[in-house]
Amino acid sequence: MNATATQSGETQARTASKPGNWSLQFLGATGTVTGSKYLLRAGDSKVLVDCGLFQGFKQLRLRNWAPLSFKPATLPAVVLSHAYLDHSGYVPLLVRNGFVGKIHCTEATYELCRILLPDSGRLQEEEAEYANRRGFSRHKPALPLYTEEDAKRSLTHFAPVEFDREIELGGLRTHVPIRAEVAVIENFSAHADYAEILDWLKGFEQAPRRTFITHGEPAAADALRHRVEESLGWSCRVPDYLESASLE
Ligand SMILES: [Zn+2]
Repeated sequence: MNATATQSGETQARTASKPGNWSLQFLGATGTVTGSKYLLRAGDSKVLVDCGLFQGFKQLRLRNWAPLSFKPATLPAVVLSHAYLDHSGYVPLLVRNGFVGKIHCTEATYELCRILLPDSGRLQEEEAEYANRRGFSRHKPALPLYTEEDAKRSLTHFAPVEFDREIELGGLRTHVPIRAEVAVIENFSAHADYAEILDWLKGFEQAPRRTFITHGEPAAADALRHRVEESLGWSCRVPDYLESASLE
């Protein structure tokens, strides 16, 4: 589970955009751990942070077929935090639906996406083919969300970035130093639990004005919200699907 802290004293965002016109919309990972997509808007500019696939229950997977809250052709850039499909697996569909901008991530994330995304497309095709063969889909014919070919085409939009290099994102002129450390761990997965998240949050010199908790099952997200509010006194919210928040 991630705690998304914005406008903290720790990150000291320096922005050229007029203050007061920043907003954040939650297009996934609300009340679930999948489908991470956060649309950051500043005036006319926008950037999508993560572009993940909804996975798991059918109700969630159906959201992959719903239109987005913006036209992909109007989006200049995507930033991927990491390659897992719940953070990157929607990229082929975004591109198929008209996205022509750049997808920024680390070189390692790109290398993994080169394997994961075509593989995901192939799986979607196999599932559709299986549904057609068995005749259990309401859709005749059942179609894949995207194909292996869509996924391969989407890879041409990747523009990996080296560590420590500053880039301009779709006209968003802001400087956000991220005071994090890259460490090697022995585990395959590295999600922090609430105690580690609280430890990290305690290091903030100044409470963020807004804190959003995403990427968790509803009960777990609410429990973390409660703990952050109790132990740090921060104003904390678990956003709803498609909720928009002004970052004034
Ligand atoms: Zn995830």
